[in-house]
Amino acid sequence: MLSFACTDLTALAEEIQKNSFPSLEGPPGWLFGESGGLACIVKTAPVPTIYIHPILNRSETPEYLFRHVFIHEMLHLTIPAREVDGKQMDHPPEFWEAERDLSPERRLAWNWLWFNFRVFLVSNKREECTRVRRNWRESLRYPTGDPRTVSGCHEMDSPALR
Ligand SMILES: [Zn+2]
Repeated sequence: MLSFACTDLTALAEEIQKNSFPSLEGPPGWLFGESGGLACIVKTAPVPTIYIHPILNRSETPEYLFRHVFIHEMLHLTIPAREVDGKQMDHPPEFWEAERDLSPERRLAWNWLWFNFRVFLVSNKREECTRVRRNWRESLRYPTGDPRTVSGCHEMDSPALR
């Protein structure tokens, strides 16, 4: 799928990998494609690939949103899933701690997502992911806005992208 993003996502992935994930051999690849969730990383060989849901393939999607997605997904390459209190978790506590440190814009990113796509997103805490409803294409009829311009916008929690 052709990218409509105004951000150079290849350059952004490179920059984030170099600055925040120097232990990785190189940046993952990326593409816009449906995977059920907002984003996920597939450990394809030789280079992993980040799938970004097409609902985000818009010229208005802010760079801070893509930045957060890339940081979150690259963290999956460095912090493995593990069992916590008898439950297998894709996002153990150390994952969230690292995300807080590396992605200061995560709340802004989630505010933008919920502000613009609230009716198309389903947060599934048990499965640790945020799903995109099948009717997401309806969202393409409306321009997205910036939650910072609206007063009284409450800060959302920072759930898992996938
Ligand atoms: Zn995740």
